[in-house]
Amino acid sequence: MRQPAQTAGSTPDALDVQSVRADFPILSRTVHGKPLVYLDNGASTQKPQAVIDAVRRFYEHDYANIHRAVHELSQAATEAYENARRTVQRFLRAESEQEIVFVRGTTEGINLVAGSWGRANLGPGDEVLITAMEHHSNIVPWQMLCAERGARLVVAPMDQTGALIWPEFEKRLNSRTKLLGVVHVSNALGTVNPVRRMADAAHAVGARVLVDGAQAVAHAQVDVNALGADFYVFSGHKIFGPTGVGVLWGKADLLEAMPPWQGGGDMIRSVSFEKTEYAPAPAKFEAGTPHIAGGIGLAAALDYVTALGLPAIAAWEHELVRYAHERLAEIPGLRFIGTAPRKAAVVSFVLDGIHATDAGMILDQEGIAVRAGHHCAEPVMRFFGVPGTIRASFAFYNTRDEVDALVAGVRKVQKLFA
Ligand SMILES: *Cc1c(COP(=O)(O)O)cnc(C)c1O
Repeated sequence: MRQPAQTAGSTPDALDVQSVRADFPILSRTVHGKPLVYLDNGASTQKPQAVIDAVRRFYEHDYANIHRAVHELSQAATEAYENARRTVQRFLRAESEQEIVFVRGTTEGINLVAGSWGRANLGPGDEVLITAMEHHSNIVPWQMLCAERGARLVVAPMDQTGALIWPEFEKRLNSRTKLLGVVHVSNALGTVNPVRRMADAAHAVGARVLVDGAQAVAHAQVDVNALGADFYVFSGHKIFGPTGVGVLWGKADLLEAMPPWQGGGDMIRSVSFEKTEYAPAPAKFEAGTPHIAGGIGLAAALDYVTALGLPAIAAWEHELVRYAHERLAEIPGLRFIGTAPRKAAVVSFVLDGIHATDAGMILDQEGIAVRAGHHCAEPVMRFFGVPGTIRASFAFYNTRDEVDALVAGVRKVQKLFA
């Protein structure tokens, strides 16, 4: 595998962004005749050659189904897939590979916890506490569960900067709270939540804690135990890996006590028409043939990110966000949505008198890919009184020049609408 480049000299841990960009073939293409400026990493990230090669090598050389056969290819595939599980374990600093459940993505991971742990542990009068800045995928599964179990969904509010209001959060915790579901980093606002402190407060009332890490894992080192989480979920495609694969990490004792979610092959120890005995976790939650190549590609992505160094990634992205705020703030008629003191990788804004979608379409003509809309967080938009925002979301391969291109693009949008 080609190792990501790092600069030598006075800042040994700093990224050499230009050589890192060369690892991502798509970044050298043009869009509408302009160099691609990809600022939609919050929706999905691009793939380095190392990931593309790992997936391709698997299909070209090692492909077979896993866990089911004694033949050479099946054994090689099983080994690669189970190695991928260990890579995820190390990446999250989890204690055991048994705690790593492969799922389709963040959405499926949350639905699994709601459908298995939630159904087994929630009853009438119980409460699920979430925050006002959750992605739809950390709202709807809990709404469905609460409706089914006669439980109540409670929402902790945020302030005008998009930060959690601590006293209001604390007020909503009580002995009926069975689960806290919280987004680690908000996809719409970039707010970084004080997860450790929230988890401690939730545990003090006996609640379990699920953390939606979809926007966090690609931007800073995550240690699931240090965070105080009981469940942590993320998607492969937002951390430079394939779509259709993601991870649910859960504490071993919790996973062991949880009933299966889907039934089928691979999740059983023995089956008869009278009775089925289930396999231990994680197999218990992995019914059917999984996205084998996806798991292998995800491991390659995590190796890539680890080699680059998450501290260096975090430092560079912090600089990009700072620079983007500084430059965009020069533009009259631009209002930021989401100005919490602790932010990561996301800059969201609206333009006076211009619909976000129109701006997004004009920026696209300049080769600039941003997201324009509600970002699967309609309650967040409603809170700020806007139908949608323009969101630039960064990855380590973005540059200050690309921020400058965005600024020029926004000025062009304004001129067209003046
Ligand atoms: C993208 C995202 C999700 C959903 O991830 P999928 O890959 O679509 O399942 C959930 N939460 C946050 C914060 C996200 O950014």
